[in-house]
Amino acid sequence: MSDTVKYLLDEEHLPKHWYNINADLPVPLDPVLHPGTQQPITADELGVIFPRAVIEQEMSTEREIDIPAPVREVYRQWRPSPLFRARRLEKALNTPAKIYYKYEGVSPAGSHKPNTAIPQAFYNKIEGVKRIATETGAGQWGSSLALAGSFFGLEIIVYMVKVSYNQKPYRRAFMETFGAQCIASPSTTTASGRAVLAEHPDSTGSLGIAISEAVEVAAQRDDTKYALGSVLNHVLLHQTVAGIEAMQQMDMAGAHPDMVIGCTGGGSNFAGLAFPYLGKQLREGGNMQFIAVEPSACPTLTKGQFAYDFGDTAHLTPLCKMFTLGSSFVPPGFHAGGLRYHGMAPQVSHLAKLGYISPRSYNQLECFAAGIQFAKAEGIVPAPESNHAVRAAIDEAIKCRETGEAKTILFMLSGHGDFDMQAYTDYLAGKLKDLVYDESEVAMALAGLPVVG
Ligand SMILES: *Cc1c(COP(=O)(O)O)cnc(C)c1O
Repeated sequence: MSDTVKYLLDEEHLPKHWYNINADLPVPLDPVLHPGTQQPITADELGVIFPRAVIEQEMSTEREIDIPAPVREVYRQWRPSPLFRARRLEKALNTPAKIYYKYEGVSPAGSHKPNTAIPQAFYNKIEGVKRIATETGAGQWGSSLALAGSFFGLEIIVYMVKVSYNQKPYRRAFMETFGAQCIASPSTTTASGRAVLAEHPDSTGSLGIAISEAVEVAAQRDDTKYALGSVLNHVLLHQTVAGIEAMQQMDMAGAHPDMVIGCTGGGSNFAGLAFPYLGKQLREGGNMQFIAVEPSACPTLTKGQFAYDFGDTAHLTPLCKMFTLGSSFVPPGFHAGGLRYHGMAPQVSHLAKLGYISPRSYNQLECFAAGIQFAKAEGIVPAPESNHAVRAAIDEAIKCRETGEAKTILFMLSGHGDFDMQAYTDYLAGKLKDLVYDESEVAMALAGLPVVG
């Protein structure tokens, strides 16, 4: 048995294209609708907030989309990212399972998010855009876009969900170091922020509210566009660079996954690892399992409804068919801030609805316990979001111990938790609780779903 635990690809194996799962869907996605007319939205209408190249990718059904050379040039700083076999964790769990993980924490922002921040900034830059407005939950996306903005010479304005703004001052400092402006949301700088504050002066914010503020700012000026860090097709597309690398690395390891696991906030890191494998399975058959793991306190895929909904609270965004808890739902302030979103990527939702993706949810305490077990064995402290994937991988490995099956588990370690030590401090001090979401609030939010007919 080889002692190799780390699988590195040479630079020449850095993918030259992203993988677009729209090319292999057994049933096409439902169209994205204009929020006013409820007709399928046009490229021109989307052009108010997104650059053309991004809109083309959003609507494309081409299987392979070229990664521009300047984007690959930046990717080279940390890509191809490593794939590890978690041998010490396997040993600690006394499992016959083989556990592999793709590690995206090696990026300068510490997560998978620069994989899409870099191309989005690049496309905006070449189309003459000067400013990008965006939202951020835990701060990972804002950090990634701030970094991309400084590489490509763009001004970045980040609306950061207030609960995270207060929990994670270092994330804010990170964004400001790269020259971005970071504003706690809801804020008084936009009409949508002021409307929320008028009704809920103590609002801790939500991604839905922060998106409204950023979209509002982008729609006001011709030189300003909006960028989203998850959910949309083009974001999931950019993230497949990780999955395409992982397939080559698993081949190097002589391994083939029986299951692919990722945590899901908006669905992008999960899709990035899973879609290249899932697309292959859709084309050629197979019986890999794809497990999407979400927090029980924001259970979009496991408790939400598959329906047309807005991406934001003020209803400025187009309508997407997706699993949703309702756009007015504000999840409780648990520590995996990047997973506090009411909706789920339309592509992930669609494939879950068709039965190709198995969703599952966990509470935060069991996720932190898994993260600490992982850290002790593997030496990396995972982001609280990533802990959800770690929990599922460990549970599957424990199942193998019980059944004696030597399954191959591949999971995405979407980021490190070095900026999240307050969460670990609170957990270790016994101060964290399992937060339950308010079912009546979800029922109310779902009752307010737009009537699309
Ligand atoms: C943002 C984030 C997530 C959740 O977003 P997805 O789009 O679902 O990937 C997960 N992990 C980390 C580390 C993040 O920063």
